[in-house]
Amino acid sequence: RAKRRGGMRHEIFDAQMRERLVDRLRIENELRTAVERDELRLEYQPIVGLRAARIVGVEALVRWQHPRLGLIGPDRFVDIAEESGLIRTVGAWVLRHAAAQAAAWRGDGHGPPLELAVNLSARQLSRPDALVETVTDALRDSGLPPGLLALEITESALVDDGDEEAAEAALARLRALGVRLVLDDFGTGYASLAQLKRLRFDAIKVDRSFVASLGRADEGEDALLVAAIIHMATALGLTVVAEGVESPRQLRRLSALRCAQGQGYHFARPLEPGMLRELLAADPPAAWSTS
Ligand code: C2E
Ligand code: MG
Ligand code: MG
Ligand code: MG
Repeated sequence: RAKRRGGMRHEIFDAQMRERLVDRLRIENELRTAVERDELRLEYQPIVGLRAARIVGVEALVRWQHPRLGLIGPDRFVDIAEESGLIRTVGAWVLRHAAAQAAAWRGDGHGPPLELAVNLSARQLSRPDALVETVTDALRDSGLPPGLLALEITESALVDDGDEEAAEAALARLRALGVRLVLDDFGTGYASLAQLKRLRFDAIKVDRSFVASLGRADEGEDALLVAAIIHMATALGLTVVAEGVESPRQLRRLSALRCAQGQGYHFARPLEPGMLRELLAADPPAAWSTS
């Protein structure tokens, strides 16, 4: 009997596995043509300077207007793109389009220079020749000054393939283009601030899991950690961006800790280009201010 039950569990398991595999293969297949069919979209989320309560940059976040599934987020397809190697095509599309968009906003003549942040994947870093060419092309064709492009890299992307030296060499070549390097989701991996300084990162984004409890009665250790990170990173000359700022309390707390920049739903969700343009043209909402 036990055997039969086990067998049945197996069948259920197999069926679910098969379904997931089919789903995956299907998405992978469709992704191959998504770029040609112009189905990828970019949304832009503001990054806010906390002192002046002003937008200092935007992060480009990819979406897919899928013919069957509707608008889907990167969590549904970026991993698949990574594993299949399609991420290079997707990544090149993102860089080209985001750079063109940022250059267009620049042409609008909105206040201080707006920095554009673009996410890179491990797979892109592992082919530095192709990546350097992609970034160079995107900058040249858009006319966006290299100093206004920030490339976001996660800690795991730095060490995933085990070849830290290769990743380091790739970073050096990117730096030589004049772009900024940002460590994404800081705190979720194993990078030390000293290491980041050596790799010549310009900024870190503190993962939202550390920001979540800030300003709550139970903030405890997280607040100590965030305070220490901000303190050390700032002393090392790294700009600190807090991710996932969702409440006025978190904002006030971060501001008191002298965190330089913040990003999150409290300020704005990722927006379509037209909406972001309106936000750039308007005065900053009072809720962004802490004084
Ligand atoms: P990320 O780079 O850490 O981007 C921040 C993610 O947090 C975004 O999710 C954003 O919508 C979400 N977020 C922003 N503010 C808040 C908040 O206050 N609360 C919460 N709960 N979430 C917030 P999204 O757009 O789903 O992107 C997920 C991840 O997918 C990104 O994390 C990034 O690692 C990856 N990704 C996005 N676009 C690209 C891309 O063009 N290329 C590559 N390689 N990866 C990308
Ligand atoms: Mg990012
Ligand atoms: Mg992040
Ligand atoms: Mg993240």
